[in-house]
Amino acid sequence: MKKTLPIDGRFALTPLPYAATALAPAISEETLLLHHDKHLATYVANLNSAITGTPHEGQALEDIVMESRGPLFNNAGQVLNHNMFFGQLRPPRDANAPHGETLKRINHQYGCFDAFRTEFEKTAMTLFGSGWAWLSADADGKLRLTQESGAGNPLTLGLRPILTADVWEHAYYVDYRNRRADYLGALWSVIDWDVVEARLLSE
Ligand code: MN
Repeated sequence: MKKTLPIDGRFALTPLPYAATALAPAISEETLLLHHDKHLATYVANLNSAITGTPHEGQALEDIVMESRGPLFNNAGQVLNHNMFFGQLRPPRDANAPHGETLKRINHQYGCFDAFRTEFEKTAMTLFGSGWAWLSADADGKLRLTQESGAGNPLTLGLRPILTADVWEHAYYVDYRNRRADYLGALWSVIDWDVVEARLLSE
């Protein structure tokens, strides 16, 4: 996994790789602007202030997530998780689906993409409160579904995270109110499976 290093001791807010209007109707411009420009920007600012004067200054974001606890972990985890989340989305496509090695492993382990989607959505729906649903690969390349509350990331379980759904209410409440299932159903149309495949195959 490519590591995220601070520049002059500070982490930057990663710009969205698409226009704020690009993910509608799955994710509205209003949600995306709030989510990225307000929520994520606050995590970045809090990370930069929490890190000052600690032994973690100058460390890569991924190493901070592995080694820290408390408020520093929470803000570092949220920055990493959001960078992964926003970085794996693209404008909606009909019949958007995985390909390559990702599809091969999904078919092998879950039978088909539809069956995998059901399992992933179940993982995200049964997470109580705020957190993240994850698809990762283990050391043997086997796919694993996990749920993490708060700012958790499967890196700390020794896994390689490749796909995530943000199930904090701020990710969907403006567009879907309390209907987390509807948000998750729409999310499939904007997943960038090229990014997921690259994460799976990266060292
Ligand atoms: Mn979020």
